[in-house]
Parts: sequence; C-alpha cells; structure tokens
Amino acid sequence: MRKKHRIVVKVGTSTLTNELGNSNLRTMERLVMTLADIQNRGNEVILVSSGAIAVGANKMHLSEKPKEMRMKQAAAAVGQCENMFLYDKFFSYYDKTVAQILLNADDISEEEKKENISNTFEALLEQNIIPIVNENDSVSYTEIESEEKLFGDNDMLSAVVAVLCNADRLIILSDIDGFYDKDPRLYKDAKLISRIETIDEETYKLAGGAGSRRGTGGMRTKLQAADIATRQGVSVIVTNGKNPDVLYDIADGKKVGTLFVGAKS
Ligand code: ADP
Repeated sequence: MRKKHRIVVKVGTSTLTNELGNSNLRTMERLVMTLADIQNRGNEVILVSSGAIAVGANKMHLSEKPKEMRMKQAAAAVGQCENMFLYDKFFSYYDKTVAQILLNADDISEEEKKENISNTFEALLEQNIIPIVNENDSVSYTEIESEEKLFGDNDMLSAVVAVLCNADRLIILSDIDGFYDKDPRLYKDAKLISRIETIDEETYKLAGGAGSRRGTGGMRTKLQAADIATRQGVSVIVTNGKNPDVLYDIADGKKVGTLFVGAKS
C-alpha cells in the first residue's frame, strides 16, 4: 500500500478574507473541497487557519481593524467561531469531520503539554478527522500584542505543528506565488525562486518587512517557519492560495511556488 503522506496546510488571512474583510467564501469552499479530496486520496491533512480577528471585526461591524487588545481578543473569539462554523459546514458536504485545536506558544514549550497535544493530533488523524489549528488569540494576549508576533499570523505555528506531527510536508498558502528575490509588490522585475536548499542571512535580506494589509506575517515569518520546519526535515512549499487547485499539483509532484528543501530529504 502507498505510504500515507501527512500534510500541513497553512492558509493566511489574505486568502481567507476579501478586500472588505468579509470571508472569501469561494476560496474557502474550494480549499475545503481540495483538502477533502486530498484526504480521499489516502493522505492525512491538518489545516492551520488564521483570519479570526479580521472575520470577527467584520461580523461585529467594527469600522476598522481593532487596535485595542480587548477588542482584538473579542474579535478573535467571534471570528474563530464563524470560521469554524464555515469550515464545519463546507467540510460536511464531503462527509468530513473537523476538530478545532487552539494553541499558545507555552503549550508547545512544555514537554508534558507537547506530548498531550501530539497524542491528540494522532488520535484525530487516526479517526480521519481534519484538525483545524489556530493560535488561541483570545487567551494569548502576549502574542497578538507583540509587534513581531511569536507565531507571526500562524506561519510559525504551522511550522511548529508540522514538526510536532512529524509531517511530510508543510504548504503555506499566501497571497503571492512564492518567494521572490525581492518584494514583487515593490519591484516589477522580482523573480520567483523555485528552490531553496539553505536559509541564511542573505535569504532573510530578500524578505522585507511585514506583508499585506490583511495578512500580518509577510515573507519574513514564512522564512522563519521554513527555517524551523526544514531543520527538522519537513519540506516547505510557499505558494499562492488564491487557486487551491495548486494542492493537486503539489500532490502530483509538480513544481509549484517555492520549495524549501527539508534537511533529511
Ligand atoms: P499571508 O496573509 O498570506 O500570510 P502576507 O501578506 O503576510 O501573506 O505575506 C505575503 C507578502 O509578503 C507578499 O504579498 C509580499 O508583498 C511580501 N513580500 C516581501 N518580500 C517578499 C519576497 N521576497 N517574496 C515574496 N513576497 C514578499
């Protein structure tokens, strides 16, 4: 029998919401269909999904992205609920069960907690359930408060989860086709780098600062995530989430976006 691949897919706020800050239902629905299908092909799927604060702020009819901590946390609580409702609804079309896992940094730094979380993931995957992971923003205020969020809009969280779960691959879906030699939004002549074997200071220099208005991580946190995952042998692909069909291409071994080669592969 073909070996099951364990795949972690991270999707950012800029993919999950539209320009108005509403849920991007079309992308979400196609993402869900593709993930369900990839699981049907015999793979194990974990989804790391952000977007809770943006979706919550919108549902609460806030005129702008909340700045005050308690409002951010309130928006995260509302948005998380809305996101899970949509995921549950969309995944159930394809007869899939989902589970919500909310994590904080200290959950993973303590050995005992880490082992419990890892056991939970194993139990869910064993039951063909798709875990949907997010940072526990309503509780972990230190993280949404800090400028450089520890998990950087979940990029780092997705790497930590991929390592914790011994995933074969981490796919980071962004609002850009991959990692370029400079920020393509600022430089028209930027070129996509399709394969990166080592991440060093020079690589970080290409990444620039924080990303789009709705996303918060930017390429820097994606590089940090790729750094964590590849060191532990997990290959990482950064590609555009606007067309979730790319996940089929990746499953079929086609070249898509930027591949950061895992240390063991
Ligand atoms: P997401 O919400 O999907 O996590 P972000 O907006 O946080 O996305 O990060 C992606 C953004 O990072 C791109 O839209 C781009 O403007 C910016 N960026 C900066 N440097 C680079 C680079 N070298 N290659 C690609 N994108 C870059």
